[in-house]
Amino acid sequence: MGLLSEGRPLSWPETKKNAHIVHKVGIQQFLSLYHKHKDRKDTLKWGDEVEYTLLKFDDKTERVQLSLMGPHILNTLQVPENSDPVHHQSKWRPEYASFMIEGTPGATPYGGCYLHFNIVESNLKLRRQQLAEMLEGTGTEAMSLTGFARFGCPGFTTPEHDPKEDNAASLSLFFPDSAIWSGHPRYRTLTRNIRERRGDNPAINVPVFKDKHTPSPFVEEFPTDVRGTAARGALPDHIYMDCMGFGMGLSCLQVTFQACDVDEGRHLYDQLSVICPILASLAASSCIYRGMLSDLDSRMNIIEASVDDRTEEERGLKPLKEDRYVIPKSRYSSIDCYLANKDYNDKEVVYNKEAFETLKKGGVDDLLAQHIAHLFVRDPISLFAEKLKQSSDSETDHFENIQSTNWQSMRFKPPPSHDSPIGWRVEFRPLDLSLTDIENAAFVVFVVLVSRAILSFQLNFYIPMSKAEENMRRSQLRDAVNSQKFYFRKSVVPEDEEEAKDHPPQSHDHEYTEMSINTIINGKDEFPGLIPLVRMYVNSVEMDVDTRCTVLNYLRFISKKASGELMTTASWTRKFVSSHPDYKQDSVVSEKITYDLYKEMKMISNGEKPCPEVTGNLVSKSPDKYKVLDCPPPKAEK
Ligand code: ADP
Ligand code: MG
Ligand code: MG
Repeated sequence: MGLLSEGRPLSWPETKKNAHIVHKVGIQQFLSLYHKHKDRKDTLKWGDEVEYTLLKFDDKTERVQLSLMGPHILNTLQVPENSDPVHHQSKWRPEYASFMIEGTPGATPYGGCYLHFNIVESNLKLRRQQLAEMLEGTGTEAMSLTGFARFGCPGFTTPEHDPKEDNAASLSLFFPDSAIWSGHPRYRTLTRNIRERRGDNPAINVPVFKDKHTPSPFVEEFPTDVRGTAARGALPDHIYMDCMGFGMGLSCLQVTFQACDVDEGRHLYDQLSVICPILASLAASSCIYRGMLSDLDSRMNIIEASVDDRTEEERGLKPLKEDRYVIPKSRYSSIDCYLANKDYNDKEVVYNKEAFETLKKGGVDDLLAQHIAHLFVRDPISLFAEKLKQSSDSETDHFENIQSTNWQSMRFKPPPSHDSPIGWRVEFRPLDLSLTDIENAAFVVFVVLVSRAILSFQLNFYIPMSKAEENMRRSQLRDAVNSQKFYFRKSVVPEDEEEAKDHPPQSHDHEYTEMSINTIINGKDEFPGLIPLVRMYVNSVEMDVDTRCTVLNYLRFISKKASGELMTTASWTRKFVSSHPDYKQDSVVSEKITYDLYKEMKMISNGEKPCPEVTGNLVSKSPDKYKVLDCPPPKAEK
């Protein structure tokens, strides 16, 4: 997660005092990257990122806890990448919490050939295997989960820590600082500075799932902390959480694409952002918070609130006096504006005026300048004393500082440095994790294929930004796949010129309608559906039989998820809890239910037990398929 600078982290008051330097130099750094790389051409490359969660099972006491071993295993996991920078097959990075660890494919990103679609699963398996080997004999399992049912319940970590005595950074009632990644000061600094900037603890309120015996209204009693101010933000009928860790402790699946140039990157950013809520609802897998069933199925809103560092003035609760902007959303959220077509940007975008002017004067067009300047309404929230003085044209830390703490559903990434071989990239970030490697591989490959279909067939998914944002809200609701409709374009293939002339250019209302996920993915009547479009793409390229078989298998899986034939991981989790003999229909997920739930999930993840309700008939590939370096040299993509 983001930039890891070395050195002494500054306090919030010191960071605030120096924020103007980060803003000023950061914009110059972007400008200089932009001019250096604006004309470069690259080839398609892509890769996934998985954040794993470490769980420790105690079969005697029938308890499962989050293991804080992450920082202790990282160095050993990194031995292959450090000893063979060219051929290693996985990379490991720290994540927000000590019970997390991030793994990505190795030295070579995917993309050179279609065969790569066939090795995503094997590489995911390899990573899981590496973790398993590392954890052997410790009773600890690495699982691809989005969240842990009993985050913030007493004793949810091992070793156990009491948040009352261990919360200097978070001031949380529930989440001890020791659960935050201990290997680098960045994460505690972020936690403290977000809270201090906001002027209070973040207030995360997730609607509770009201079952037959859930008290109504549902009101929890909380202990007061030393300041006597605890739980001030708690709302009735909600599960309350109070620090960054509750959001950033949730893991996800990300896919990064390298575009052939800056314009293609902007185009892909826009088009894929419309797909974010659709796929988020299919991948939904997080529905239990602090030991209670919630009414949401995926993680976005929770993280959004967990890092909401806006002051009262910025939230519009007080007139602007100290601060400069009223900002509608948290720094973690769905995107605010399209990058390649302003016609659909129907929401006011709040941006840093000086940054915008500097970018315009520096030769950046309005839309891109607005995007970068809107990231720069946020202050830096982690700053290191030794890194304050930076060059505007050979370093990038200040730009990266702001960029990497704007956590949006999509991220537009310039090349990382002035002399980097890596090009313009976009990152797709809305997906919750699935339990098995094959499901995660299916989601990754599907997103990549959608991106290929977008470019090959010039697909157009634009809908007004306000509608895309509403889709994001709906995508997280309970059983969104079956219970919600989503705004989507009626026609996604390039429009007939004559047809376009019939409508005034300003109005886009005739272009979209509300559709079910099933229609969007599988098509209906005139509307082709994403799967048939992706199939057309697959049929239009020369793909070997084995890879095609893998890909079609994945497409069938996504198709069945969309039709409701297969359950989401979240729906399956709800079903498991509600049919557990200990469950009292009161929304409470006890320690024993949690233990049984993760035992079951562990067996499913490891392939010891099938879960056809969720995975259908996905057939796993054998691990020896992993041979990324044997691919022929990259062929130019259409
Ligand atoms: P961040 O944490 O900032 O999102 P990471 O460096 O952790 O970024 O992840 C990079 C992801 O991008 C990985 O999935 C990796 O495989 C992929 N990747 C690396 N190089 C390229 C490239 N040139 N083009 C596209 N994807 C790349
Ligand atoms: Mg990463
Ligand atoms: Mg990432």
